[in-house]
Amino acid sequence: MSLRAVRGVKDILPGEVELWEVVEAEARRLFKTFGYAEIKIPVFEHTSLFARSLGETTDIVQKEMYTFEDRGGDSITLRPEATASLVRAYIEHNLFHPPRLLKVFTIGPMFRYERPQAGRFRQFYQVNAEAFGSDNPAVDAEILVFVDKLLRALHLDDLEVRLNSLGDEACRPRYTEALTAFLQRRRDALCEDCDQRIDLNPMRVFDCKTPGCQELKEAAPTIGEYLCEACVDHFEQVKAHLARVDIPVHLDPQLVRGLDYYTRTTFEVVSARLGAQDAVCGGGRYDGLVEALGGPPTPAIGFAIGIERLVSLLDRSRLPLDEGTPQLFIATVGEGVDEVAFEIMHALRSASIRVEREYESRSLKAQMKVADRSKAQYTLILGGDELARGAALLRNMAASSQEEIALDSLVEEIKARLALP
Ligand code: ATP
Ligand code: MG
Repeated sequence: MSLRAVRGVKDILPGEVELWEVVEAEARRLFKTFGYAEIKIPVFEHTSLFARSLGETTDIVQKEMYTFEDRGGDSITLRPEATASLVRAYIEHNLFHPPRLLKVFTIGPMFRYERPQAGRFRQFYQVNAEAFGSDNPAVDAEILVFVDKLLRALHLDDLEVRLNSLGDEACRPRYTEALTAFLQRRRDALCEDCDQRIDLNPMRVFDCKTPGCQELKEAAPTIGEYLCEACVDHFEQVKAHLARVDIPVHLDPQLVRGLDYYTRTTFEVVSARLGAQDAVCGGGRYDGLVEALGGPPTPAIGFAIGIERLVSLLDRSRLPLDEGTPQLFIATVGEGVDEVAFEIMHALRSASIRVEREYESRSLKAQMKVADRSKAQYTLILGGDELARGAALLRNMAASSQEEIALDSLVEEIKARLALP
């Protein structure tokens, strides 16, 4: 039996992982700029947390959760998303005290039992952010500015932000009623799943990819016509804030999200380059969730970015990738030099110089080949007469030139050549 990873998960190997590093570094840098603090949350929770927060009838809860009984008999679920856990942590640690705008983020793996395909994995990573404690439309706009800034920092300027408002508990019921009535009249055109969704959660029909349902979607009433005055006003202000700082958005009256907890501002970021799984980011307000999970009434908004899909869109040549290339390679000539080489390598690394060497090849020619392949700027050749004089040969690999440098000022000399402070 050959050992293979579980279907639907993947290893992120060196070569690709540098792109992930850039994404995380840019995200972390921007989170600091925007005042978000990191929270590290567990990858598993009590199953009831997700059932209660995402909604019993959502696809995630019904079909996609990795749920198991642990040895103590508790029902545990690998987190399919982070918002539920962040809300749990917010309540559990009284983070609503003192009352304030609290902005947090987390980065890590999520787990969903979905059909593996391009852009869809069973373990995937998200950058997740939530802002608790304000229903000010400026907070919604700020979140969209963050997303826009992150994408631009990664040179992704061809993505589209789709924006909608889903209303609140005051206006949504009237809309759901109208939508249900519409769908009931056209029941025969719906797929089997959507037929069942009518009574459970009719807005989910908009999420359906079946051609029949897609067509019906075009004729269905949209939430925009049903928003109450407060929600219209809120949405207008979000848009006005975005316009003020020139953040382009595309209004999509049929945009809904797959989870029950969303209210008001809702958005998705999509790419035409991604095919069927085109969403890179999804988010929105969830003003009722904190209270529904036992906390004080707390308006909140958040988003999640799928890192795999984001990384698949990146252009390596436009990003400052750190491929771990050594700055200096050490080659040795003759016997008895290994210990000196080891000591020199230690001294250079202590000065934060990236040093590599090849332990297995004995001939200088073979070592120089490895040095070449390593793309190191310099190779330090230790051996023979130079060592006896307390010196070594330093080869500039690009210029193919060599010079002798004294070992007692080695670190300073190399730092100077590498233009290091
Ligand atoms: P989709 O419509 O693609 O199923 P979703 O609405 O289920 O996405 P969210 O729960 O909003 O997605 O998650 C936010 C982001 O996480 C998505 O926009 C996507 O980039 C990413 N994502 C979601 N599910 C997966 C998955 N199975 N594999 C890889 N990335 C995913
Ligand atoms: Mg999904």
